[in-house]
Amino acid sequence: MIDASFLVALFKDNENIDIRHINLFQKYEKSPLKVSRHKKVIKIKIYCDECKEENRYNIPLKLLTRPGGHHVYCCGCGYELGYLGSKTDVEAVVTKHRRQVELLIHEMGLDEYFTNPLVVFELINYIHDMAENKKIYCQCSSQDVAASLSSDKIELTCKKCGATYIVKAGDRKDLEAVKKMGSIIIKSKSCDKLIKY
Ligand SMILES: [Zn+2]
Ligand SMILES: [Zn+2]
Repeated sequence: MIDASFLVALFKDNENIDIRHINLFQKYEKSPLKVSRHKKVIKIKIYCDECKEENRYNIPLKLLTRPGGHHVYCCGCGYELGYLGSKTDVEAVVTKHRRQVELLIHEMGLDEYFTNPLVVFELINYIHDMAENKKIYCQCSSQDVAASLSSDKIELTCKKCGATYIVKAGDRKDLEAVKKMGSIIIKSKSCDKLIKY
């Protein structure tokens, strides 16, 4: 008997793996994933945030839930976008992925020091990405920013003028708040003076 459903795990964030349940009898469209069935072929489309492009994969229906599942990589950047397969396989991969993150957190020593190591870990990654995409800058126009960590916050310092910005990292709400921000602007002290003169 063919199981009419399968799972897709999307690895967008390091901690928050997004698991989607797909029913083969229904068209599925919920960003970044689109699934449709064309006779004996399942068409999967996953949008890569990094490349701003949609990746397309065709998987024969009979291979969809084969043991071992399917790792899905972006054709552009090579990043592993997700994993799809049977419920059992996807759950096993997700568990393994979470353990690897926990191990990494432990090796970085984050679990001894932080109130919420998972949140800090994800924030560090997120802030790193923001910095790479030039989304963090200081009012003094510098984008040269250093980050330092303490138990429940990350402090960003402008290397040029010394202005600082505190990113709270105590719980998931702090993380969500940062994700909603398009960019982080560090308030420069010298800039304040310029406005006030
Ligand atoms: Zn990509
Ligand atoms: Zn500055």
